[in-house]
Amino acid sequence: MNATQVSGRKTPVEGKVWLIGAGPGDVELLTLKAVRALGAADVALIDELVNREVLSFLPEGARVIEVGKRGGCPSTPQAFIEKQMIRFARQGHTVARIKGGDPFVFGRGGEELQALQAAGIEVEIASGITAGIGVPAALGIPVTHRDFSRGVTLVTGHLRHPRGDGGDAPNWHALARCGTTLVIYMGIANLAPIVAGLRDAGMAASTPLAVVQNGTLADQRSLVTRLGDAVAAVAQAKLGSPAIVVVGEVVRLAATEEQRDSARRVA
Ligand code: SAH
Repeated sequence: MNATQVSGRKTPVEGKVWLIGAGPGDVELLTLKAVRALGAADVALIDELVNREVLSFLPEGARVIEVGKRGGCPSTPQAFIEKQMIRFARQGHTVARIKGGDPFVFGRGGEELQALQAAGIEVEIASGITAGIGVPAALGIPVTHRDFSRGVTLVTGHLRHPRGDGGDAPNWHALARCGTTLVIYMGIANLAPIVAGLRDAGMAASTPLAVVQNGTLADQRSLVTRLGDAVAAVAQAKLGSPAIVVVGEVVRLAATEEQRDSARRVA
């Protein structure tokens, strides 16, 4: 019996859940482990942001359940997703819970793991390439570089009180001072208050900043600007979600459009 299975069942169950990170978009960024896990699944619960091409790795006839949200529609309640996974696993199914990026980076994978463990379900993790690292890389931006940044901080820009008065905003003062690359997920809708928070905290208006929408996908769009110009530039370019915002000196290394085009031609 697997260590994470509940003991004392009359009929031992074989079901299990894979928490799978599908990477930021490009299907080639799936791991071999993710592909193996998908191939073993007979039920898949897939989040909205995940590239549907990953479903081609499921066995024929596998059941696919769409969960998650898009464009402000109500998401499938988290508790319901967890219940479904537990139910299918208890019925003996191998469940693929497919999430964008890495399941444990702003993906609620931690909560799902806790719920599954509490229910005594066997869980395996297939880590994925998180958007905060894979998407800047698509522009040639390394999130750390010995000459520019000795670290990277991943934060969410999805805030109820973006100016910091509600207790859930990142500590912009600490972030502005610590000198690491700042990678902001879910930040595009709150870009104005985020920029204001960083400026108020003393970050220079000239700090390089990049925004990448639909990174690593065919419809990837991006811009490279400076902190002080970012809000106007994003509005002008009409960039929207899903997007990653990168702030820091490493953004200077972003490849130009031309360089990226010629790299694509070579590939
Ligand atoms: N678990 C995921 C993050 C989920 S939160 C991961 O590790 O990547 C969703 C946010 O991720 C989006 O709002 C956006 O900020 C970012 N994101 C995901 N895919 C993206 C992509 N292809 N391009 C740009 N940003 C992306």
